Amino acid sequence: LESLDVEAIREEFPILEREFDGEQVVYLDNAATTQTPDPVVDAMSDYYREYNANVHRGIHHLSQEASIAYEEAHDRVADFIGADGREEIIFTKNTTEAENLVAYAWGLNELGPDDEIVLTEMEHHASLVTWQQIGKQTGADVEYIRVTEDGRLDMDHARELITDDTAMLSAVHVSNTLGTVNPVSKLVDIAHEHDALAFIDGAQAVPNRPVDVDAIDADFYAFSGHKMAGPTGIGALYGKQELLEEMQPYLYGGGMIRKVTFEDSTWDELPWKFEPGTPQIAEAVGLVAAIDWLEEIGMDRVQAHEEEITRYAYEQLTAEPDVEIYGPEPGSERAGLVGFNVDGVHAHDLASIMNDHTVAIRAGDHCTQPLHDKLGVAASARASFYVYNTKDEVDKLVAAIDDARQLFA
Ligand code: PMP
Repeated sequence: LESLDVEAIREEFPILEREFDGEQVVYLDNAATTQTPDPVVDAMSDYYREYNANVHRGIHHLSQEASIAYEEAHDRVADFIGADGREEIIFTKNTTEAENLVAYAWGLNELGPDDEIVLTEMEHHASLVTWQQIGKQTGADVEYIRVTEDGRLDMDHARELITDDTAMLSAVHVSNTLGTVNPVSKLVDIAHEHDALAFIDGAQAVPNRPVDVDAIDADFYAFSGHKMAGPTGIGALYGKQELLEEMQPYLYGGGMIRKVTFEDSTWDELPWKFEPGTPQIAEAVGLVAAIDWLEEIGMDRVQAHEEEITRYAYEQLTAEPDVEIYGPEPGSERAGLVGFNVDGVHAHDLASIMNDHTVAIRAGDHCTQPLHDKLGVAASARASFYVYNTKDEVDKLVAAIDDARQLFA
């Protein structure tokens, strides 16, 4: 695999040249949100300058152009993740909204006290809190597949927990706290053996590696545009067409109906049935530009670059005294982020010292509070990488850790 021309890539991100107190920013908070390259910003700016109009096929030229761009954005996303077509792609605000859409449209209607929802201990709150509340509202039990000492899913426990009573399995593809890449197609197979549905949270997977929902065979799969060089305000829910056909809408209004009378209403075809109101048109245009941009690099090369930087970061951090790293060792089961703590230094203090060095990392519970409880810490520090990051930047991270240790430990 030919390696990336990182310098050329960085030129498309003016934000990476920003300086604070004379020091250039080192952006290692990509699992929270990635930066946006010029072609994506330009595509959105072109939309507003050249063909901004409401969609749903207005009669005039501008609306026609905007409608075609918006509709075709669904085809582009479908193609990118291996879905059959636009019918299977619903645009949402983000991964969180995709999770809520299925929980409300499917869960609230289909689940009852005899059913079980199986999650993992490494779920993001987007899925954990949502299904927990649906469990409370429907009486369905919620159970959690254990995480092992080395940060993997205990697959024996998964086989034990997923039974004929299981109606829904919701699992994260790549953990945003541990970096673990979960064996999602195996999990989906186990769910299907018991006639359960499977929802996979791909928020940390789609940005960083080739993803094929058809191969995974998930019933639902979700991700966010802002973690993959795209804009905020747009995410996508993939769902198998026959399931989406059967599901009730989650939100109601204009743009999603076929026929409305004072007594009743019927729904438009997929995916519009799930997209009421004026949608994120500029954001859909930006998401397409991000996908074009990523595919020009090649998702396999994006993955290879991240793995290389992550391995380097892991090695540098392992060589440091008093640093505890969470999650699996580098390799095919670890994606492009490293969560860690430095003994005697609170993660927030560490992030603050990092910021003094203009190194941007995240500190906190990363929306996985129960997992942090299990790890026995209130917070962790997390460095997460993308296509534009370099080993030099990792060195700056490690130098800042040395500084923090001198100050605090
Ligand atoms: N799931 C995972 C694994 C995540 O990392 C995130 C973002 N931190 C989300 C879900 C939620 O994504 P969003 O905030 O875009 O809805």
